[in-house]
Amino acid sequence: MRRTLCFLLALAIMPAPFLLSGCGESEGERSRYAIQAEYEEGVLSAEMNFSYYNDTESEISSLSFNLYGNAYREGAVYAPVSPAFKASAYYGGESFGGMDILEVSPCAGWEIAGEDENVLRVGLEKSVAPGERAQITVSYELRLAAVDHRTGIAERAVNLGNFYPVLCVYEEPGGFYECTYYSNGDPFYSACADYSVTLTADADYVVASSGETVSAAQNGAKKTYGYSLENARDFALVLSREFTVLQAETNGISIAYYYYEDEAAAETLALIERCVTYFEDTFGEYPYRTYAAVQTGFCYGGMEYPGLAMLSDGVTGLDYLYTAVHETAHQWWYAAVGNNQIENGWMDEGLAEYSTLLFFENNPEYGLTREGLTGNAHTAYNAYCSVYSQVFGKADTTMDRKLCDYGEYEYVNIAYNKGMILFDTLHDALGERKFFSALRRYYTANAGKIAGPEELCAACGNGGTAIVRSFVDGSAVI
Ligand SMILES: [Zn+2]
Repeated sequence: MRRTLCFLLALAIMPAPFLLSGCGESEGERSRYAIQAEYEEGVLSAEMNFSYYNDTESEISSLSFNLYGNAYREGAVYAPVSPAFKASAYYGGESFGGMDILEVSPCAGWEIAGEDENVLRVGLEKSVAPGERAQITVSYELRLAAVDHRTGIAERAVNLGNFYPVLCVYEEPGGFYECTYYSNGDPFYSACADYSVTLTADADYVVASSGETVSAAQNGAKKTYGYSLENARDFALVLSREFTVLQAETNGISIAYYYYEDEAAAETLALIERCVTYFEDTFGEYPYRTYAAVQTGFCYGGMEYPGLAMLSDGVTGLDYLYTAVHETAHQWWYAAVGNNQIENGWMDEGLAEYSTLLFFENNPEYGLTREGLTGNAHTAYNAYCSVYSQVFGKADTTMDRKLCDYGEYEYVNIAYNKGMILFDTLHDALGERKFFSALRRYYTANAGKIAGPEELCAACGNGGTAIVRSFVDGSAVI
């Protein structure tokens, strides 16, 4: 995700009490989602045939799925939008949605569970041995709130991020890792799977998708699209009646820019093309055949999904282009190389920010320099340390906290600004050649998998490891 400068300034001047908030995959075979969905008047009715592949070393007798869509329901304990953004996100006033599970079969029983009705637990009829598969079908309805957010009816588009039950990541020895929806950061954590999705909607909708379009058929006033995506940790769709689409082919990747208000749309698409080429050359191959950059209503700057990025229509000018680069960088850091975004959000955000810096440093015509961008990060981070020291006597600069243990202003400074400074410090310490070969090594070794700080350290060698650890434990002097 990307926050904008206005956001940082708004939070910096907020009264102090507001700054606090409560609080392995294997190669080859993967689980498979086959989702058939129909969207009509704010409701997505869907059937999900899920083929679970047991890539763990344990016998599995039940499955857990994150129900992110349920965070939008009335009475949710953890609201998806923080009070600071509520008025701008809920453009028409209060609105609610939710995800209703209608039926799961075959199974030994199912329940809605978790701290905030955020998990679907399904008992399997027969336990699954490592390397074996189990099939279940989940029928559900996703009701959308009127909200400029990941899952909702935005003012000029319909955002279908996190629109299906997402299998929780299985960790030893804890079992399935259940995600609570925090308004802070991106509260997502998932393993790669294969997707086959069909969507039926009014024929006048233009649909942007994470996957490749494999079929399109019109039936009266409705149109049904088929999409396919392999080895991806999520899948998103955005619908709008207003989209214009610009397309380009870069390095064999089909890039599409969906927009409804951009006087410099051709330049935006050209920037995205340059971005994809630069990141491929610098880090490694882009993991999919298509990439959709999609303008939509979103209360923050942008949001990343595999093969698709939402770009906020509330952001303009250079800030919009910066957002496009940041979200595109997430295709390498988050989509390809995954991480637990609830506990290690600084990894993908810090790398996305630093990759953005590298892109602009190599494309000086935009006027953003490494010195300027790192200078901004240092200024903002120091301001955070100063504010927190004055108000609370101490600024916690550790980076290994859960999303719920940060205030919003605090999280932006730790994950984004300190994250960017971490990678700039590594760059300086390792030198040009070693730094870029470390990033390429990290990418190649972890694409399609989930990486933690230890994998980053392994790619950076001894010198880099000491820097990463000192940043994470808060002992680094910045
Ligand atoms: Zn981001």
